[in-house]
Amino acid sequence: MGLALPIDPIRVARDRDIEVAAKSASSGGVSGMLIRVGDQFAIAYATHIENDGFKNFCVAHELGHYFLPGHPDAVIQGTNGVHESRAGFTSTDPYEMQADRFAAAFLMPRHLFFPALERAGEGLAAIEGLEMTCKTSLHATAIRYAQCTRELAAIVVSTGSRIDHCFMSEALKNVRGIDWLRKREAVPRGTPTHAFNQDSNNVRKAVRVESTSNLQQWFGGKHNVSISEDMIGLASYGKTLTVLYGIDLPEAEEEEDEAALIESWTPLFRR
Ligand SMILES: [Zn+2]
Repeated sequence: MGLALPIDPIRVARDRDIEVAAKSASSGGVSGMLIRVGDQFAIAYATHIENDGFKNFCVAHELGHYFLPGHPDAVIQGTNGVHESRAGFTSTDPYEMQADRFAAAFLMPRHLFFPALERAGEGLAAIEGLEMTCKTSLHATAIRYAQCTRELAAIVVSTGSRIDHCFMSEALKNVRGIDWLRKREAVPRGTPTHAFNQDSNNVRKAVRVESTSNLQQWFGGKHNVSISEDMIGLASYGKTLTVLYGIDLPEAEEEEDEAALIESWTPLFRR
């Protein structure tokens, strides 16, 4: 496999004698297919996909079904030998979710992605730069950014007034007293994303905005600090991607949190 970014999933497939081709799907929303004829596998990506980054993501998703233990037998149904995928972190099917996670890790392996991330800076601009470096979808890159960054950050995907999902960085998860954003919760009123989503043209035209809001508006808690909030319309998904970052907690409060944490552990060591 490749030692440098971008990873080319089509090359990896062909090295395994897996044919890769464009194919029209039998139903809407299908991103690609894994096809098995006897012992031979083939991968197809849907013909409507024009974005090379998303195409790579879709091929990597099919490679997930090929490589992950149990997947070929589980996902290829009946005698027609075809699995139709809905790649892109929208399906709730566990096999689809696993293949999406595989695709993100395959195209953005941590040991290559992390150094690139350290050079890329912060926020949406960093994610856009990493998208170019990794040649994958903006959405998948944003998720990987939230998984790998050392900073306090989160990405939120929303449709209108509803949150579809939120990925918080490890550092942000460790801040005490903030709420987790849940699927199907409302986008908080008063935030730039809430205003952005009032006009569906913003999503359709892939409008891009850099703004600011407050940590409390999104996550509640006691930290009344200003944060950066960037957003862009993901036109082909009909959704909005928001990046929350630039979160500087007062040092005293961080220390206080740490002291409280140590105190909460101490009784474990007492007789
Ligand atoms: Zn699939």
